[in-house]
Amino acid sequence: MGARDMAEILVFSEQDAVAYELLSKARELSSASAAVLGNANPDDYFAYGAEKVYVGDAPQLADFGAEVYAEALAQIVNASGATTVMLGSTKRGKELAGRLAQKLGCGAVTDAIGVTMQDGQVAVERYALGGNTVATDVITSDRQVIAVMPRTFEAVKQPVTGQSVRVALKLAEPRVKVIERKPKPAATANIESAETLVVVGKGFGKQDDLAMADALAKSLKGEVGCTRALAADYHWLAEERMVGISGKKCKPRLMVSVGVSGQIQHTVGILGSKLIVAINKDKSAPIFKIADYGIVGDLYQIVPKLTEKLAAM
Ligand SMILES: Cc1cc2nc3c(=O)[nH]c(=O)nc-3n(C[C@H](O)[C@H](O)[C@H](O)COP(=O)(O)OP(=O)(O)OC[C@H]3O[C@@H](n4cnc5c(N)ncnc54)[C@H](O)[C@@H]3O)c2cc1C
Repeated sequence: MGARDMAEILVFSEQDAVAYELLSKARELSSASAAVLGNANPDDYFAYGAEKVYVGDAPQLADFGAEVYAEALAQIVNASGATTVMLGSTKRGKELAGRLAQKLGCGAVTDAIGVTMQDGQVAVERYALGGNTVATDVITSDRQVIAVMPRTFEAVKQPVTGQSVRVALKLAEPRVKVIERKPKPAATANIESAETLVVVGKGFGKQDDLAMADALAKSLKGEVGCTRALAADYHWLAEERMVGISGKKCKPRLMVSVGVSGQIQHTVGILGSKLIVAINKDKSAPIFKIADYGIVGDLYQIVPKLTEKLAAM
């Protein structure tokens, strides 16, 4: 039996874009199917290579609830015969992973940064020891739940004529009732999904100077992230903008790091970036070891000039 025959991979994410990334990888490794819950549209999943799309709909799924979604997914996994479930390692995906694994009686890994086949078994890569190394884990239970960081894989279209399978779900009423929903304050940034990120550090002398970083981010149509010091110690920026082991793991196409030394607890959050440009006045700053392009100099001179050039383009 070849490795491709060994695993039946079922993917699910509450974010369609993440599910397409997972599907693209899953079909490289095995036969790939997807689960959609609630009133999501299964058609696009065929465009990304899903051989089957399992559709589970029930009134209890109208609002996301980890308890009821995990139960719905467990029933779909059992109906599909999948051996490996790939979820997005989003906030919700991570919560689902543990709950689903418990229901399936199997092992789970979250924050995966790579998935491969080794001797017919699914092997999962993730950062370990504070980001100093990458560990490869093999879950030894018959089934596995793996939550993969968003943007680990490219979503590549590969249309197939798939089959839509409706699964009749038996779900109890959720024990958690949503009594109110409030939009997040407008200032909320989603740096994890930003295509371009300007990350600022203690090289900035005072809070007002961050206006320079805002202008740079604006000229690049990006978001602003920061090191722990600026969020947790100085409270200049909200914690949701903090990048690193205790903050967000970001995978932008372009990361501009400004006045950041590049300590490991920070860089673990940016290693997935496609292109890193670092600006730091200290040429021996560790950030230059991982940067694709480095500018050694005073950010107070470089950032305004860079912004001006970009705005003129
Ligand atoms: C358990 C633990 C968890 C942690 N988690 C995180 C985390 O999630 N995220 C995180 O960011 N940190 C985290 N840290 C902290 C981390 O170790 C570093 O202390 C922090 O990232 C440093 O922030 P910084 O680069 O802004 O500051 P610094 O290390 O002080 O670096 C400032 C840099 O700015 C440069 N600079 C100064 N002035 C200028 C100028 N005018 N122009 C250009 N460059 C200039 C300096 O050369 C220097 O390299 C954690 C630490 C621990 C112990």
